[in-house]
Amino acid sequence: MTDRPTPTYETDVPPGESPVECPHCGRPLESEQLLVLHEGIDHWERLGDDRREEFRETYRRENDDLRTFRLKLLGLLVVVYFAFLFVYSWQTTDPYSVISLVFV
Ligand SMILES: [Zn+2]
Repeated sequence: MTDRPTPTYETDVPPGESPVECPHCGRPLESEQLLVLHEGIDHWERLGDDRREEFRETYRRENDDLRTFRLKLLGLLVVVYFAFLFVYSWQTTDPYSVISLVFV
């Protein structure tokens, strides 16, 4: 991770919102967690040891959340698959009758 030049982003902050702002490039971010991740990815060289450790912990939590999200989606996919399979097996007793379902 290096301190790479941060591209400029077009941002539009709604009135009344108070986003967190990156102290290095001024980019507004939605939360403190996103600021920590942004600093760790785009401004690694400027961070102190405590901020780097905070980035590692936040990154680890983000990965855990993503893993949980993927597992939930996989579970949902399995449920939908078996639901369709159950409905298909309930509606049809002849495996070739799907042709009649499609064309009738
Ligand atoms: Zn920044």
